[in-house]
Amino acid sequence: MTKATLQHTGMCQFPVRHNNLVIGGIALSRLAQRVGSTPFYAYDRQLISNRVAELRQAMPADLKIHYAMKANPMPAVVQHMAGIVDGLDLASAGEMKVALDTPMHPENISLAGPGKRPQELSQAIAANITINIESFHELETIAQLSETTGIQAHVSVRINPAFELKASGMKMGGGPKQFGIDEEQLPAVLKRIKALNLDFNGFHIYSGSQNLSADAISESQQKSINLAISLAGHCPAPLKKLNIGGGFGIPYFPGDTALNIQQVGDTLAESMVPFKTEQPQADVIIELGRYLVGEAGIYVCQVIDKKISRGQTFLVANGGLHHHLAVSGNFGQVIRKNYPVAIGNKMAVTEKELVSIVGPLCTPLDILADKMELPVAEIGDFVVVYQSGAYGYTASPIQFLSHPVCTEILV
Ligand SMILES: *Cc1c(COP(=O)(O)O)cnc(C)c1O
Repeated sequence: MTKATLQHTGMCQFPVRHNNLVIGGIALSRLAQRVGSTPFYAYDRQLISNRVAELRQAMPADLKIHYAMKANPMPAVVQHMAGIVDGLDLASAGEMKVALDTPMHPENISLAGPGKRPQELSQAIAANITINIESFHELETIAQLSETTGIQAHVSVRINPAFELKASGMKMGGGPKQFGIDEEQLPAVLKRIKALNLDFNGFHIYSGSQNLSADAISESQQKSINLAISLAGHCPAPLKKLNIGGGFGIPYFPGDTALNIQQVGDTLAESMVPFKTEQPQADVIIELGRYLVGEAGIYVCQVIDKKISRGQTFLVANGGLHHHLAVSGNFGQVIRKNYPVAIGNKMAVTEKELVSIVGPLCTPLDILADKMELPVAEIGDFVVVYQSGAYGYTASPIQFLSHPVCTEILV
């Protein structure tokens, strides 16, 4: 493994052997042979396990760690995750099906999202999972379904807090939002829950995604805990669960620095003390998607053409934004920046050239890398996009331009 290669890509979670990136202990060229065709996504199960273990080390011992499935709902990944986390958080009945196929106990599964359809709610009630209520109307629908089916529903209230998560890539709380019920309306909603025959579990507060600032996350966690303390007097029953969200980010671009989870953990341990004193029976939960899987996955495609247009070299790949919208810069980014990219079978090649890597779609949006310095690549070489384990395949417009789908593997 050459130092220069690592500095070049900035990524070091995967080792390098004889010019090849190694994933799950297998050299990329060999792995591609095994898969049989490109493009594909590959996720490394050991890296996922390591990530969860490191997180547990840094967090308070009694904190529960949940996996938010929408980041990567591949069934094999969710199965693996079910064995190493304390719960699964879902955003649809489709995700619920995958979650219920795992050994995870329904008591540790919850469903969130605005606009849950009555059928989804009734499926969730029958499954005995916790539903995070996001509106007054939804509350009444749940109560009715619970009554007609004769199954008591387990509910938490998702709160849209008055505060915002600072420095976040995507804000999902604070101000007017479609998510959750405004903090100011909580006394009224809790009073209504008390009048209905529902099993009240607690609160869910999720403020945003892709945050690399330990200070901002800690501040939001502390405010969430204080909010729960201030509302405890209005609750119909003692709190069983307080889900304070997640939002832990991963570095994608030059200048991004990894989140300091030890700092987050230490501060959270302090913030939890007054809550644990008042509500010793309640579990405090964080729910993470991207942070647990994002760095463990790569997207792999192959160069199928190389051409020069007015002095600029283009590598045309057989994969693109239809499989990986985020790498093209069209998933939550304001200004497009290059994801870390490598030529996965030329990791130690020192001869470099400036190239743009584009996908096969007939649109100028289909860019994998814009004017990047990479080892000189030829037709057949493997283009690897790092940091692709979260919000990759299922967050992409797979049908756009009717190209072939791609494979996902867990190694
Ligand atoms: C999307 C989402 C998550 C996961 O967010 P990450 O940034 O991937 O950790 C967690 N909880 C809820 C409610 C979500 O909508």
